[in-house]
Amino acid sequence: MLLLILLRLAMRENQRRLTRARFFEVPYISMLAIVFEICCHSNMATKKVKEQARKVLKDIFGYDEFRAMQEDIICSLLDGKDAFVLMPTGGGKSLCYQIPSIMREGTGIVVSPLISLMKDQVDALTRCGVNAAYYNSSLKAAEGKDVLDRFEAGELDLLYVAPERLLTKTFQKRLENVKVAMFAVDEAHCVSQWGHDFRPEYVRLGELRETFPDVPMVALTATADEHTREDIADRLSLQKAKRHISSFDRPNIRYLVSEKRQPLTQVLQFLEDWKDCCGIIYCLSRKRVEDMAVNLQRHGIRAAAYHAGMPGRSREKVQDDFLRDRVKVIVATIAFGMGVDKPNVRFVIHHDLPKSIESYYQETGRAGRDGQESEALMLYGSGDVNLVRRLIENVENIDQRRVEVHKLNSMVALSEALTCRRRVLLGYFGEHLEEDCGNCDICLDPPETYDGTELAQLAIRCVKEAKGDFGVGYIIDVLRGSKNARIIGNKHEKLKTHGNGADINGDEWTSILRQLVHQGYFQQDVSRRAALVVTKKGELLLKGGAATLARYQPGLKRKLRRFSQGRDEALFKKLVAMRIALAEAEDVANHVILSDVALTEISQFVGEIKIDDLRKVSGMGQHKLDAYGEAVVAVLKAHASARSSGKMSDTNGFPKLLAKGPAPTDGQSHTWNLYKKGVSIEDIAEQQGVSEKTVINHFIALVRAAQQVDVSKIVPDFDQVMSELDDADPYASLTEIKSELTVDLSNEEFRLVLAWREGIGVS
Ligand code: ADP
Ligand code: ZN
Repeated sequence: MLLLILLRLAMRENQRRLTRARFFEVPYISMLAIVFEICCHSNMATKKVKEQARKVLKDIFGYDEFRAMQEDIICSLLDGKDAFVLMPTGGGKSLCYQIPSIMREGTGIVVSPLISLMKDQVDALTRCGVNAAYYNSSLKAAEGKDVLDRFEAGELDLLYVAPERLLTKTFQKRLENVKVAMFAVDEAHCVSQWGHDFRPEYVRLGELRETFPDVPMVALTATADEHTREDIADRLSLQKAKRHISSFDRPNIRYLVSEKRQPLTQVLQFLEDWKDCCGIIYCLSRKRVEDMAVNLQRHGIRAAAYHAGMPGRSREKVQDDFLRDRVKVIVATIAFGMGVDKPNVRFVIHHDLPKSIESYYQETGRAGRDGQESEALMLYGSGDVNLVRRLIENVENIDQRRVEVHKLNSMVALSEALTCRRRVLLGYFGEHLEEDCGNCDICLDPPETYDGTELAQLAIRCVKEAKGDFGVGYIIDVLRGSKNARIIGNKHEKLKTHGNGADINGDEWTSILRQLVHQGYFQQDVSRRAALVVTKKGELLLKGGAATLARYQPGLKRKLRRFSQGRDEALFKKLVAMRIALAEAEDVANHVILSDVALTEISQFVGEIKIDDLRKVSGMGQHKLDAYGEAVVAVLKAHASARSSGKMSDTNGFPKLLAKGPAPTDGQSHTWNLYKKGVSIEDIAEQQGVSEKTVINHFIALVRAAQQVDVSKIVPDFDQVMSELDDADPYASLTEIKSELTVDLSNEEFRLVLAWREGIGVS
């Protein structure tokens, strides 16, 4: 807009000069001057627009720099041009339409398929001081009307709308009276049947381009697949829009593949490294999901199951608990993920083989949206390959079956790769990596290879001798010289190869046989219970040639570089507690208040901190600084003074009894001051003109903000309550636990006890 105005001004000025200039007075130079001037003006205009966009980025969103492509996309939209954005998850797509919507006159309309995400986004924007709202079926009639009224009154910078709402007659009518700044179609792959999440209500979005030819439109997606991209552009009439395609690499995700042996143990070992962090474990079936969730809970991990067979309400609860960090690990079928925009998912585990590289990429991509170090672990077993193969064999359409077989084979190749995983992964999407990534299991710990010709020949001879339908397990038993009933029954203890491989253990043999299958020396006949069959290549090897094998490596070796290094963990924990208190008070997801990145940066501060210093923190815009600055500084000061007076325990920083320190909000600090003077709860409530319930809520916040409140003096029969909580079933719901207490507590008192227990590290 601004650019247009400046351009127009420049043109008008030049016109005036033109009429003044006489025709014979060196027209070339004059023309050149005009062109030059227009260019300068437009350059200046672009520069100005860029500066303004940067200012919005810093003041409102609290970030110093644009990420790759964001600035280009924003400038294009500000210039009234359409755009098509292909950027991986976590790349920062939202800002690409949020900033132009804020800067352009009118309201930016964002079409988004996921109701839960809309609330989250709007919450986050509101916390940054942006006027945003959403309009979808979750609103009551009166709320919906209120949103539309605000929209019509021109009060909104951004309005998130569900696609089916956008195309209703009522809404279209409203649109006629409102200035629309731009349209953004988020998760644009939903418009395509090729995509992995087709939504019929997206199809009509193409009409927008015709109804509003002058309003710029941006479509955004993280889909990496070429077919789908073309289809999206067609369906949304965005063929001419500039495509902004960023690399699909997610450098902060470390890819790890490990042979699946004892999956539960492997998962537990992996989780050891990610204590207290959030992650997702994907399994192929509901049964596996449920088993794994229960097993993890037995090991004291706050895990929950999630799959399509659960009632909607329970699924919502699990999602919500995860967003609020109450549940740390979600064990899910692929049904989980689309609706979850949690930035601090630190790991994704594939317990079973994903059915294609596309799914693998999408699912692992849910880790590390915040750009911090994350890990994707896949447990790879040939049993799974066979399982998926069998599923594919049931597909009736031959073409589709072929496609699926190809996709599965590519996935197997990625898992079996002895070269950089990222190279294989990106290569699949047509992207070439200049150098090995240095951040995958192969790069970090390159597999050693050796001449495996003799072992391979031995295995091939054994399979040939056994003559029949025998799978990997049986052949290994023969090679290792077992005399189990089946072997005796088949008289296989008499085979020449029986016992010839006894010096190699079972796991190692499994690894060798798998490699031989994947290298094509054996085929596994799925219709005959995965029996090993020697191929031509196998026969040839017996006559000569050489086979190379990768050295078997038990366990997962990796060199972790943790992003948390250098932060004060005790302080970080206190900040997390403060964040929970704030988020609960405002009823929003934790990350909406401040991100893990922000808390990490804050907990790396040294020396005296003033509110203004917090401006440097990533994501700390003016609005958040005003809202939370004081609370953060209070926690920092309390921490510093606890530390200097030596009262801090190393483990959690929550000594049980009193210490000093200002409290986060006025009401709370008032309560705190009165409490320190020994005023009773009743009187505190009366003096402040609030209910006792509110006072206890203050205490909850105080406890969470690491103030040392003597909870035993507030909660009746405190010791009794504590001992009953210690004995409570750790997997019972809080409501169940509360109802089983012999002491009658109010909800607030109960929450206060829980907050206190959390603080001292009991869960
Ligand atoms: P996407 O929609 O592409 O998956 P988001 O828009 O949710 O990604 O952004 C991912 C994360 O990156 C968010 O936490 C966001 O605040 C952050 N982010 C986006 N742009 C920037 C930036 N320029 N500087 C710092 N952080 C950013
Ligand atoms: Zn690598």
